[in-house]
Amino acid sequence: MTPDYTTFVRNADAVRAEIAAACKAAGRPLQDVELLAVTKTHGPWAPEFAARYGLTGVGENRVQEAVEKKPQVEATLRWELIGHLQSNKARVAVENFDRVQSVDSSKLLRRLDAAAADVGHKLAVLLQVNAGNDPAKFGVDLEDAPALLEIALDLPHLQVDGLMTIAPLSEDIAVAERTFSNLRELRDRLREEFTTPLTTLSMGMSGDMVPAIAAGSTQVRVGTALFGRR
Ligand SMILES: *Cc1c(COP(=O)(O)O)cnc(C)c1O
Repeated sequence: MTPDYTTFVRNADAVRAEIAAACKAAGRPLQDVELLAVTKTHGPWAPEFAARYGLTGVGENRVQEAVEKKPQVEATLRWELIGHLQSNKARVAVENFDRVQSVDSSKLLRRLDAAAADVGHKLAVLLQVNAGNDPAKFGVDLEDAPALLEIALDLPHLQVDGLMTIAPLSEDIAVAERTFSNLRELRDRLREEFTTPLTTLSMGMSGDMVPAIAAGSTQVRVGTALFGRR
């Protein structure tokens, strides 16, 4: 079912108000936090609505779904892959996404670098970190992140923009808070150690935007609160 644009605008206004309030509470400028519209499972209407509203980026979690959806979307958008990527799909991912947020192994890094070299452009990536130590989540472990970054920085066709994490599912907000501050502290340490800016901290979703922004998120990935339940 395609919801109407008016409903979407109401949802998006509410999300932006929540982001604005969280920025204010954290003493951060509003421009520091980007709203990435997560359009997975929704038809081409979802990216179209996001673009019409003025959002510039969309997140998809499956390569194949995005490959099918993209040609049906007229609006120009930045497409970001936020879901797990198998290394045998690296080439298709490079061809279809402007940034891959879910990089969590050296094998995948090398495959993406080779594919980007083939395609002839640099690929922006984020390293996905399992900052909540959740056995159910993908992502490199906190203690293994420095070694992965070291490999990534040596690959000529990749540009490492920063880090991404997903907080473990929990009723307890302290779990999300701990996850996000872990990622923030890791980023600050890596920035010193490797003298690279790592400007993007992709963390926070519909249910945990506020603690993510408090901890320094620069991009929240929001699906449900914008487009309704999947
Ligand atoms: C689905 C998804 C989101 C959005 O989640 P909502 O709770 O619907 O806002 C964010 N990040 C990732 C990696 C996702 O897979």
